[in-house]
Amino acid sequence: TSEKKGWNLENSYAELPPLFFSNILPTPVSEPKLVIFNDQLAASIGLDREQLQSEEGAAIFAGNKTPKGAAPLAQAYAGHQFGYFNRLGDGRAILLGEQITPKGKRIDVQLKGPGRTPYSRGGDGRASLGPMLREYIISEAMYALGIPTTRSLAVVTTGESIIREKELPGAILTRVASSHLRVGTFQYAANWGTVDEIRSLADYTITRHYPELKTKENPYLCLLQEVIKQQASLIAKWQLVGFIHGVMNTDNMTISGETIDYGPCAFMDVYDPETVFSSIDREGRYSYSNQPSIGGWNLARFAESLLSLLADDEKKALELAQTEISAYGPIYYANWLNGMRRKLGLFNAETEDEELISNLLKIMEKYRADYTNVFVALTFAEQEDTPMFKSLEFTQWHKLWQERLGRQKESKEERTQLMKNNNPAVIPRNHRVEEALEAAVEQGDYSIMKRLLDALSKPYEHTDKQIEYAQPSKETAPYRTYCG
Ligand code: AMP
Ligand code: MG
Ligand code: MG
Repeated sequence: TSEKKGWNLENSYAELPPLFFSNILPTPVSEPKLVIFNDQLAASIGLDREQLQSEEGAAIFAGNKTPKGAAPLAQAYAGHQFGYFNRLGDGRAILLGEQITPKGKRIDVQLKGPGRTPYSRGGDGRASLGPMLREYIISEAMYALGIPTTRSLAVVTTGESIIREKELPGAILTRVASSHLRVGTFQYAANWGTVDEIRSLADYTITRHYPELKTKENPYLCLLQEVIKQQASLIAKWQLVGFIHGVMNTDNMTISGETIDYGPCAFMDVYDPETVFSSIDREGRYSYSNQPSIGGWNLARFAESLLSLLADDEKKALELAQTEISAYGPIYYANWLNGMRRKLGLFNAETEDEELISNLLKIMEKYRADYTNVFVALTFAEQEDTPMFKSLEFTQWHKLWQERLGRQKESKEERTQLMKNNNPAVIPRNHRVEEALEAAVEQGDYSIMKRLLDALSKPYEHTDKQIEYAQPSKETAPYRTYCG
């Protein structure tokens, strides 16, 4: 059925009870212009790339034209924002529908910045170009790093200005995701829905993401288990590459286990567990080292929203939820530890590995070493010309690591390959992202962004060409990010 290229939209989310959404059309804009388009992604989800690169595409991605089969809507959800519970919803996003891909996958196609919705509260429903291009860059980098994520299909400029602290060019990002179901969607159901409505949402989620759970004795408990597993695995992957999300509110945590909502996120250069980039995160709630425990906190909110489905008896439901939530920490840690072993070229497990790893991290922290580049140097047995590599602590650590490598049967070649596959050469360095955005936004020059995207699309290729993108900025002032 899907051999024909083009839109193949369904709208299963709109079959949920009306509580969960509002039908709404994007507000047309004056002058849509396609500035960046993800050709390969378009092809892989069965879209017609020639058609979308024309005026037709610009009109669709701007919300001026509704693609065939779309039934646009804004989703309702809630969320704990920096710990405080709020009723939210898509205030500046509209779901066009679900594209059924040639492989039969169902993925959301959503416009971000298409104008006001019933959930906009005081906002204008709009987005500016810089942050939308930033989301495009970082989400595509995450995808290439092998980290589950929403992806970016296109950015259009609207020809209209939006008003922030100053006037900024308006833009719309088309985002695709395996769904936009969030922990906050369940919190919304639990707070403002009936038990039947919570169950509809849970059943929908299971059908969409975890269909194998349908026949289990307690599918809702299994749903909780699965989401815990997916998030534990996801957050471990973030930690392993030094990704700091920046705004891990419960409305920004998906049920599918994909990273979502690239606002003030950034990658850590110098290894420092306290790193925070977001200008609004003054207390460091979402610092690098807090991400795993915040994940657990958010999952506890998810568990609470499922209580009415877990068991008839309230006490029993709490007990079941508690047991699952207690499992999150160990699952996360096992994912992280095994990932760290791979980064150090270790194929098997020894008890002392934890100490070996934590000692390396302590040395990196003490000498303010670049997180990414230390692992690359270790991969290629290079000594960096930095205080850390010249320190006695490192020399001693290195000897223990070499002994540890000597105790495993795999060859040096196999080990190097494992390390190459787990230690990216290229991450989105903050100054590289900034220079790409500046050229695009200020001069309309997208060539720097395209070169950066190309480098970021093969992060595990350790070639000379890639090295150009490997260096951190020489800037010593802390990098700050802002919500778009
Ligand atoms: P975020 O911080 O991006 O997760 O967004 C939090 C909430 O604010 C969500 O409900 C958004 O839809 C809403 N929001 C953010 N920016 C705007 C805007 N410009 N207009 C309307 N709603 C917005
Ligand atoms: Mg959000
Ligand atoms: Mg956001």
